[in-house]
Amino acid sequence: MIDMKRFDIMTLFPELVERVLGESIIGRAQASGAICVKVWNIRDYSKDKHRRVDDTPYGGGRGMLMMAPPIYDCYCAILEDEPVADMSKLRRVYMSPQGRVLNQSIASEYAKDYDRYIILCGHYEGVDRRIIDEIIDEEMSIGDFVLTGGEIPACIFVDCVARLCEGVLADPECFAKESFSDGLLEYPQYTRPYEFHGVRVPDVLLSGHHAKIDGWRDEMARSETEKKRPDLIEAKKGGDNA
Ligand code: SAH
Repeated sequence: MIDMKRFDIMTLFPELVERVLGESIIGRAQASGAICVKVWNIRDYSKDKHRRVDDTPYGGGRGMLMMAPPIYDCYCAILEDEPVADMSKLRRVYMSPQGRVLNQSIASEYAKDYDRYIILCGHYEGVDRRIIDEIIDEEMSIGDFVLTGGEIPACIFVDCVARLCEGVLADPECFAKESFSDGLLEYPQYTRPYEFHGVRVPDVLLSGHHAKIDGWRDEMARSETEKKRPDLIEAKKGGDNA
């Protein structure tokens, strides 16, 4: 039996997240029971009669901040819905431009080390600091830019971690050679037709000679990476020497 990973996502825009993660491979992985994704509407936990979830920041300044109490109550409801079996396998993440910047090796680490993820999406100017200090293990960024909300980052995070979980991709071999898995980008790929706008598929790929094909692919992966992402080659050199 595969251990099913569970992702609980706290947001003010549940439809947005459900819609994105309900499609394609991640949608099918949920339907087949390879992963479980549950989306929680923080607004349902507001005790205010107008269902308010945000307020102006103390000390003044622009915009609105998400208040701690509805987020905390939403978090408690998640733990009640499915109690945590093993605390060491739980990771609570706040999607934030101030976090560690997500990459493929962080995604692998998350897929390997944990089986339960609780993800908080901020909105507006962010969330009250006390909620981060109390319930979050790690802030995670998807890049050095600022978005309007954590929903798209959360979908990105779930997509790339879930993709590495057992039973999500049909062929786990897929990630052995893909971009970043060994510090290089993937080699170029071709499918039918054999000739497109006068350009033919490289002969070696039709040779049926597997060792030659692998050699060509390794060489291409290296030259593509040198061209597009020389920083990865430098990092790999450093890593190989370490
Ligand atoms: N005032 C905050 C930014 C708030 S952006 C600051 O300066 O740090 C609103 C919400 O969008 C954040 O709470 C966070 O959940 C999400 N967000 C914005 N940019 C993000 C990024 N690069 N990675 C992950 N989440 C991000």
